[in-house]
Amino acid sequence: MACCVYQFISSMSECFLFYRKMYLYKNRLETFTDWPFTGNCNCTPENMAKAGFIYRPSENEPDVAMCFFCLKELEGWEPQDDPLQEHLKRGANCGFLTMKKYEELTVEEFYKLELHRVQLLIQKKKEEMRDLIREKSEAKKQELIQFFNTVSLKGQKSKLTNLPRTDG
Ligand SMILES: [Zn+2]
Repeated sequence: MACCVYQFISSMSECFLFYRKMYLYKNRLETFTDWPFTGNCNCTPENMAKAGFIYRPSENEPDVAMCFFCLKELEGWEPQDDPLQEHLKRGANCGFLTMKKYEELTVEEFYKLELHRVQLLIQKKKEEMRDLIREKSEAKKQELIQFFNTVSLKGQKSKLTNLPRTDG
């Protein structure tokens, strides 16, 4: 468990620092390698990056883009989608959408944004951790149900010696 908590905190710090680089348009744009929409459409890499998105594809979801600030993930893009409008529709309270130019921020304004960003990141990581625990609990439950069904199908009495060892 201590290991899990350490990994959780460590992955959160890595994400936080990685996304900090994404205040810069150039860095966001660089994430859109192999983005499926280019050329004559609205959701080009340039427009996606201008709207605050970074490209975060996965095996099952090849067109996922995420706002580096509010961490909203959007998929199922269509060529005519306007990235800024899509972001405004789903992330109305996003600090990126209301901030002035990065180069013009004061130190105080920047750290207020960073505080907001870390709160959003903690919230997202908590939700991910909760989903992971639910998923693992469900898998363990199914495993136990299957085990006890197998035992009763064989007509055996469930003696303690038949139970899986818990001491590793
Ligand atoms: Zn956002």
